[in-house]
Amino acid sequence: MDFDRILEEIAQHVRPCFGKGRVADYIPALAAVPGDKFGMALRTVDGGYHEIGDARERFSIQSISKVFTLNIAVSYVGEALWRRVGREPSGNPFNSLVQLEYEQGIPRNPMINAGAIVVSDVLLTHCDDAKQTLLDRLRALSGAADVGFDPVVARSEAETGFINRALASFLKGHGNLENEVEAVLDLYFHQCALAMSCSELSMAALHLANGGVSPLLGAAVLTPQQSKRVNAVMLTCGLYDAVGEFAFRVGLPAKSGVGGGIVAVLPGHYAVAVWSPELDESGNSTVGGAALEHLTTLTGHSVF
Ligand code: GLN
Repeated sequence: MDFDRILEEIAQHVRPCFGKGRVADYIPALAAVPGDKFGMALRTVDGGYHEIGDARERFSIQSISKVFTLNIAVSYVGEALWRRVGREPSGNPFNSLVQLEYEQGIPRNPMINAGAIVVSDVLLTHCDDAKQTLLDRLRALSGAADVGFDPVVARSEAETGFINRALASFLKGHGNLENEVEAVLDLYFHQCALAMSCSELSMAALHLANGGVSPLLGAAVLTPQQSKRVNAVMLTCGLYDAVGEFAFRVGLPAKSGVGGGIVAVLPGHYAVAVWSPELDESGNSTVGGAALEHLTTLTGHSVF
């Protein structure tokens, strides 16, 4: 497969898509990012690497971090996690409060904010220093020793994260947070503020295309069953209330973030990360979604 040519074609195809979405502005630090950025990086399980555009520029990974915290939580508590968070698509916005109320403080899945806040709580309970554990994990998985939190974004989220504060308080009120609300939110806001490039994210996610084994580390990060399950949760919940449309158009397990990044995997073949900051109403990158749709169309391969 000539992925270099395919990425070039994708970059041409997505040009008309710019200007149709809006850069996230509810987190002030994200509003400053230029909307015309576009980068894409694809790594194959057999060591191939292909990139185009701004693939090495770091951006705020936001909710893509939910995949990595889920990985860590699963390795700590295994099946017990699913008593505190579900694994069904939400069909609602990623920060919905009403659904959490209907369902008595058990978030629908770990890819929406409420579910990810519960996952952060698991990390706080089980790690001596949860932020450091997360950094260590992402540095190891990506091979980039200087991956870090963007303090400006983390502060911006903490200052304006009123809805997340409401979700966390509600979870606490229902007995579904073990740690203090502010401590859990501090971890959650920092994980969202991780800054990584498409190149680094494609490496960090490659174990999900490889049965849980990181080709970089030559070691299992997840068991094959855990890896299958994380991919299943991404496929059914990774793009919030637009996940059906994404499966229809793209056909890959994926996770988006409001920084404009999307990570996707084709199990057995590759992990790909794309970044372009303009978002649709669901909070998913417009150009990124179009790029991944072209990828599966041009290669003729998806999970379906
Ligand atoms: N930090 C963002 C929030 O909590 C993450 C949301 C997202 O990327 N969808 O609102």
